[in-house]
Amino acid sequence: MSRSTGIALYNTLSRQLQEVGASKGNQVRIYCCGPTVYRDAHVGNLRTFLLSDLVARAIRQSGFDVLLVQNITDVGHMSDDFEDKMLTQASLEKKDPFAIAREYESRFHRDLALLNISPADLYPRASETIELMLELIAALIHKGSAYQGEDGSVYFAAESFSTYGEISGNRLDSLKPGHRYEYTDDGIKRFHADWALWKSAGGRTQMIWPSPWGEGFPGWHIECSAMSLKFLDGHVDLHIGGIDLRFPHHENERAQSNSASGNEVVDHWLHGEHLLFEGRKMSKSAGNVVLLGDIIERGLDPLALRLTFLENRYRAQMDLTWESLIAANSTLKRWRLKMAEWNGLKEVIANEIQGLKKELVEAINQDLDTPRVTQLLRKVERSTDLDDHAKRAFFLFADGYLGLELDMKVEVEAISVEITQLLAARAAARSNKDFGKSDQIRDQLIQLGIEVQDSPDGQKWNRII
Ligand code: AMP
Ligand code: ZN
Repeated sequence: MSRSTGIALYNTLSRQLQEVGASKGNQVRIYCCGPTVYRDAHVGNLRTFLLSDLVARAIRQSGFDVLLVQNITDVGHMSDDFEDKMLTQASLEKKDPFAIAREYESRFHRDLALLNISPADLYPRASETIELMLELIAALIHKGSAYQGEDGSVYFAAESFSTYGEISGNRLDSLKPGHRYEYTDDGIKRFHADWALWKSAGGRTQMIWPSPWGEGFPGWHIECSAMSLKFLDGHVDLHIGGIDLRFPHHENERAQSNSASGNEVVDHWLHGEHLLFEGRKMSKSAGNVVLLGDIIERGLDPLALRLTFLENRYRAQMDLTWESLIAANSTLKRWRLKMAEWNGLKEVIANEIQGLKKELVEAINQDLDTPRVTQLLRKVERSTDLDDHAKRAFFLFADGYLGLELDMKVEVEAISVEITQLLAARAAARSNKDFGKSDQIRDQLIQLGIEVQDSPDGQKWNRII
């Protein structure tokens, strides 16, 4: 039996709002699918990683503990071309795949810190939990849920799991052979929808391990089953990931975990919707992938990105634009300046804000309505009824949920909106290779007392007057 936290979130499996529960005393056990560390996380990935932080904050605020596990995928995540993403990047950068993995993993942690995302309790790496996966695969073979194919790889027998497809609605009878939803060749599998748990090394020489079924490497889906079962002690109260992971990743994880344990392992499947950039899906080929570094390079506070995310409901697709980021940047700065202004010596227990606090908690508890919370902040900011102490007290209370560092000191010297816009325009001109324009903006910035220098990490600026 679970104790309810009172926080209702949409459960993709039951297709309704459901209160998140704590099944182990006061503790809510959460698993969030982590990054594949072959490249920097883009702002879309970061939106999904922020979701677990927002949920964890809300749960803690409601008096529960959180145990959050997030995996680091450093092997086994295949691209559409049946290549391991890690190995492709390693050969592109002419580096050892483990060196690539560790480098991007540390950059992932840097980005989380910049976005004020509290770290998970545990970040297990796939390459360091191979034993766990081998044990789980052996148990699945033993139970008749998996088999070794003629190619040496071990496959999960999809038909052995009768409720396959309940998360996404993609039931087995509607999956056509040849449909590219799983990155293994057909033919060797007994059924077209089976997927590999362990892949035989074949000609591959890097990132392979010995196993009872020969040398090879794990599939991506088995990693999340093995880690969640082990590190969350056999049960997951809440499972988080981006919407694209519903199928096949989470369907396969559910089939593996439930088949091994004989129970419904995950109580609640939560999915964050995708982020678009300027109306389009972010992709390398479209050249519109935005990293946190690009935002900082334009002179914007990384927490301006956090605020733009909060101004959109996690369950709605969201379109990010530079205009929205610049606007959020100035809102954030204004709020911080106000917080300093409202900071008097008088400490009051602000009874006047009890109603507002209640409204905020209701908004959060009703499917994480963060846009409503940011509206409440605007309402309080403009209020003529509340005194400064009450306003400050409410902002501090809200920040416990939002994590915007609203009480951060803003240097009075902070750059103006005009300078921010010029820095953004110059960075855009440089990425469009319009060097004439970028030089012209550099001169304009000098007139305003800002010197810009270009470095391999992008443009940097400092004040010269
Ligand atoms: P990856 O590093 O590709 O394994 O993805 C890490 C997380 O980011 C997963 O939970 C994905 O579902 C999520 N994700 C990928 N693209 C986007 C996007 N455009 N917007 C929001 N989340 C995304
Ligand atoms: Zn996962």
